[in-house]
Amino acid sequence: MRAEIIAVGSELLTPDNIDTNSLYLTHGLNEAGFEVRLKSIVGDDEADIAGILQTALQRSDLIIFSGGLGPTEDDLTRQAVAGALNRPLATNSHILEMMRQRFAARGFRMSPNNERQAQVIRDAEVLDNPLGTAPGMWIEERGRTIVLLPGPPRELKSIFEQKVVPRISRLGGEMKLAYRSFHVTGLTESELDSRLAPIYTAYPHIRTTILAGARHIAVRLYQWIDSSKPSLELEELAGKIQRELGDAVFATGGESMEEVVGRQLKESGRTLAVAESCTAGMLGMHITSVPGSSEYFMGGILCYSNQSKIDLCGVPAELLEKHGAVSAEAAECLARGVRAALHSSIGLSITGIAGPGGATPEKPVGLVYIGISIGEKTESRSRVMPGDRETIRERSTYLALSWLRRKLMEDRSRKPE
Ligand code: AMP
Ligand code: MG
Repeated sequence: MRAEIIAVGSELLTPDNIDTNSLYLTHGLNEAGFEVRLKSIVGDDEADIAGILQTALQRSDLIIFSGGLGPTEDDLTRQAVAGALNRPLATNSHILEMMRQRFAARGFRMSPNNERQAQVIRDAEVLDNPLGTAPGMWIEERGRTIVLLPGPPRELKSIFEQKVVPRISRLGGEMKLAYRSFHVTGLTESELDSRLAPIYTAYPHIRTTILAGARHIAVRLYQWIDSSKPSLELEELAGKIQRELGDAVFATGGESMEEVVGRQLKESGRTLAVAESCTAGMLGMHITSVPGSSEYFMGGILCYSNQSKIDLCGVPAELLEKHGAVSAEAAECLARGVRAALHSSIGLSITGIAGPGGATPEKPVGLVYIGISIGEKTESRSRVMPGDRETIRERSTYLALSWLRRKLMEDRSRKPE
């Protein structure tokens, strides 16, 4: 079944706001057996909204609108859809009363323009909105279904989940979009594709996408399947990809690197402390974005200046003078130092040149050293990261986590179970 999403709102056509509702809706529609064939974004213009609906009615089984149901003059979805379908709008006294009560409960008087939100298109079914004033609508028209949902994401999600999903799951039939995902680290996009292309091109019925982000590469497999039987083909291809990539795959359930590292730390009973120069807290922020990280994360030292590296992490001034703050020696000393200062079993450090200034002929912008102190050993490695300041900081954070994951894996395979 073909679905189409129309996001309404002039703010979505400015550089400041992005349409996120359609991402959420696409996921739910796929689960219900609908393929999203088209998405449009349209401003708050009655003729434009009506025009898009006319076209959509010719090609899609299910048309979902998001936005434009607010109380102000520029919220025109209701009117535009009524006009395009040639159906009148009428005030629904039940909705009006519910709205009055909602306002009264919060100690406000309802302003007259809110009454617009109680207008319903003839023969539309009202989808109550427990989290806001604008209700949604379910409309059937010449064998097509049109659903109107309010723009605020919390309200849209609640109505979609509670009122729309149960109905469209019945309409969507037996097909659903099955998918597998692999988050990969330590390979470039072209290395990855040259290894995978000979495998996935043999499966023309499965859509394989490879997407490189600043943090990792995501490989995804999609296939429309009959929901009553699992896809052997999809399982087979997923198995082959997993075998080809081995432990370069760090997650198959969409977990982040910090979640994976957190689990490893918990399982190994080790604790972690970080010393950050050029990333200045980014590493600590990522680690602590995982709920429960207090079990293994002791804390971090944000040692941006040379003096703070000396004072807080015990790096000798002579070492910094001789090798510089961006050096293997400094990274290792920071890792050892933070481990001692915060009494953790592992110390992890980052020091580098995030740019755009600060480069020398020997040390280019993007040069980053990561130090790890674990067990009896302290080591470091370096990399020259491409990108602007923010990207370099982001990639350095990720590299540190990625290397820590590898160290914890090696450590685990060495240790007898
Ligand atoms: P509306 O139903 O047009 O009054 O939507 C009100 C608010 O919902 C807007 O100001 C946005 O903050 C939010 N919103 C509307 N459309 C979207 C969208 N497609 N994605 C994310 N947020 C949205
Ligand atoms: Mg709007």
